[in-house]
Amino acid sequence: MNRAQRRKLGLKKKPDLEKKVGLFDKLPKQCTNCDKPFDKKDKDMVTSWFVTVRQQEKKVRLYCPTCWETAQKVVEEYIDAS
Ligand SMILES: [Zn+2]
Repeated sequence: MNRAQRRKLGLKKKPDLEKKVGLFDKLPKQCTNCDKPFDKKDKDMVTSWFVTVRQQEKKVRLYCPTCWETAQKVVEEYIDAS
């Protein structure tokens, strides 16, 4: 997937959690997909997990690296198929 496609989908490779202070306390406590617990005090987790924010709905979704990778593959397959 190239950058333009990624931008079009609203996906960022490395979202900066610290910059989303306003939504930081809205962060789910586990992976949205597999319910793996997330510790926002764990710097390694904060930098390796992925968050997507829908500003309009104020919905924050959190993905562990495994689920994020899976989601990316699904997106790529979807693009390839279209
Ligand atoms: Zn997960």
